[in-house]
Amino acid sequence: SPLVVAMDGPSGTGKSSVSRRLAARLGARYLDTGAMYRVATLRVLRTGADLADPAAIAAVVKDLPLAIGTDPSRESIALDGEDVSAEIRGNAVTKAVSAVSAVPEVREQLVALQRELTAAAGRIVVEGRDIGTVVLTDADAKIYLTASAEARATRRNQQNIAEGRGDDYAAVLADVQRRDNLDSTRAVSPLRAAEDAVLVDTSDLSMDEVIDELYRVVAE
Ligand code: C5P
Repeated sequence: SPLVVAMDGPSGTGKSSVSRRLAARLGARYLDTGAMYRVATLRVLRTGADLADPAAIAAVVKDLPLAIGTDPSRESIALDGEDVSAEIRGNAVTKAVSAVSAVPEVREQLVALQRELTAAAGRIVVEGRDIGTVVLTDADAKIYLTASAEARATRRNQQNIAEGRGDDYAAVLADVQRRDNLDSTRAVSPLRAAEDAVLVDTSDLSMDEVIDELYRVVAE
């Protein structure tokens, strides 16, 4: 039966791993909308467009040759046929993604694609920042994951170490706070919990505890 779960919250709450595993447990598809904004950003960086020029960004992202899979057990994301799943997690993209995702034309275009992929899947966990508030306002379940900035920076730093991107907690914490600030104060689709979202604080919970809690919320 169809089931649409909107999963929002800031970075570093464990949102991606949790969403993926929840989707697998529900026998649902999984859509990582942050990855879509990251691919758009990679395209902008590669063309050398000025990050301070929204019109230039919009022009580059128009007709973005993006292909994203929705299998929760296998990440698949391509730009013009090239696998960019590793490159979109790098520092260059992470630094620039807030500027690109603040451009209204970019959001309109990616939101339309997110709605298409959701409709095609029927049963899906969609993860992002504005899924419950903008993209899928009539989702069957809305969840907002939170955690302290320190807990989120610790997780992200450990992820960086595990994936060979270095160990720098102070820089990661600064970047978490900088992106929170940009994402929650931007004019279009700022990060916030939907009024009908269930808030779950993951600071002191293990991954298994979070998934059990979310499964209860969704199954209710
Ligand atoms: O989730 P992730 O950290 O990969 O998202 C990267 C960036 O993409 C966020 O910091 C935010 O600027 C943007 N984003 C967004 N709306 C979404 C998902 C991500 O603006 N639905």
